[in-house]
Amino acid sequence: MNQSQYPSILLQKAVTEISRLPGIGSKTALRLALHMLRQDVMEVDALADSIKELRHNVGYCKVCHNISDTEVCEICANAARDKATICVVENIRDVMAIEGTLQYKGVYHVLGGIISPMDGIGPSDLQIDSLVDRVKQGGVDEVILALSPTMEGDTTNFFIYRRLQDTGVKITVIARGVAQNDELQYTDEVTLGRALAGRVPFSM
Ligand code: ZN
Repeated sequence: MNQSQYPSILLQKAVTEISRLPGIGSKTALRLALHMLRQDVMEVDALADSIKELRHNVGYCKVCHNISDTEVCEICANAARDKATICVVENIRDVMAIEGTLQYKGVYHVLGGIISPMDGIGPSDLQIDSLVDRVKQGGVDEVILALSPTMEGDTTNFFIYRRLQDTGVKITVIARGVAQNDELQYTDEVTLGRALAGRVPFSM
């Protein structure tokens, strides 16, 4: 849309900001902005406040780096979870996907991405050192690698394996052939549960 077509600079500003969101084009952004103009002021305030609070106040668990409102997340703080089993995942959506299977009773370690030279992401950009520290602190029997079955995932698995090799911890990888081209979080819960249950010792 031509900028001069906007009857209001404030509307134009809102449309510009909303259209920065992924998957939102300028037409959708305009529709959403006009919708908000018709909405109750309190509802729009609640939306704006929740976005601000999310950005300013949500933190990360100091143990597993999962998103958390508290210093240690609910999963790490739960006495019923098996702290001897750590499942390594790429991001928070993977934690949500695995939790959705209702089958995993261990804890997690969220890397915050995978090694991807193309995107300029190296091992030091990820929570790998803190994973090694966790294992070295003791009490960990198994590290399950549950990264996407992509080249980047494989590279990251290998790098983590090399870093943990000398600790003597058991290193396993979730079963393959379930979702070769899919990212973990798009795999259905039954398949993902099976992949976890069918994990095998990591080998190069
Ligand atoms: Zn945690």
